[in-house]
Amino acid sequence: AEAQLRQVQKMEAVGQLTGGIAHDFNNMLAVVVGGVDLARRRLNGPRREVMAHLDNAMEGATRAAALTRRLLSFARSEPLLPDRVEPSQLLAGMTDLLDRTLGERIRITVDAPQDSWPVYVDPHQLENAIVNLAVNARDAMDGVGRLTISAANVRLAANEVGDIRPGEYVRVSVTDTGSGMAPDVIERAFEPFFTTKPVGKGTGLGLSQIFGFAHQSGGEVGIESEVGKGTTVSIYLPRSNVEAPVQLRPATQRMGEEE
Ligand code: ADP
Repeated sequence: AEAQLRQVQKMEAVGQLTGGIAHDFNNMLAVVVGGVDLARRRLNGPRREVMAHLDNAMEGATRAAALTRRLLSFARSEPLLPDRVEPSQLLAGMTDLLDRTLGERIRITVDAPQDSWPVYVDPHQLENAIVNLAVNARDAMDGVGRLTISAANVRLAANEVGDIRPGEYVRVSVTDTGSGMAPDVIERAFEPFFTTKPVGKGTGLGLSQIFGFAHQSGGEVGIESEVGKGTTVSIYLPRSNVEAPVQLRPATQRMGEEE
């Protein structure tokens, strides 16, 4: 009976999701149809006006295409290809990308010790997660503020964050000085397709993807936020027990060592 109940709840969730997306998609199509229709009626009018209507239609179509692309990549949910990753190195390698993504008016600080523990995760998914968090931070700061990305070794007790198991983790955090999140937003933030952003800007998939990534990697995600002050989103990844690959010395050095 419990499994049945879960199934019913799942179907309800799917129904709500598809309803929401269909609604957004329909709005975008309405913009396309409206723009083309107005352009047709004004075909003999001023060229500038016709172009403006066509531009509107293009914009609607572009948004709709972006929505379906994100939906598809969410549905496919790319397989994890885990590898031994050193978070502080990964973060250091991302500063250029983040500088370019966030613009000049957001100061970026990276706070990651050289000796952060290795983790065993898909490096591309971790990078994607950080970019997603940085873009959310940019949106929350309206383009101006301070972004801090950090990596830290932490020991956690059971359920200290979400339903995490006790043990050693690396906490990768993204902190912003933006609008912050109200408690009811925090509560729903990990739901797929939950967004407070205008149609065409947010899809509500960023944090739910990060939630999936963290859990599949044996970790957790936590949000600390204060309205008007800012937000920290932390991804906890289990310390890897995989040894670093053994560095073989070149054959020329090894020759003659054996008896
Ligand atoms: P999206 O960014 O497309 O809306 P997300 O799943 O990434 O989807 O985020 C869901 C919602 O959580 C956002 O719409 C926003 O209301 C809130 N949120 C996420 N990150 C932040 C942040 N750094 N500061 C304030 N609000 C945030």
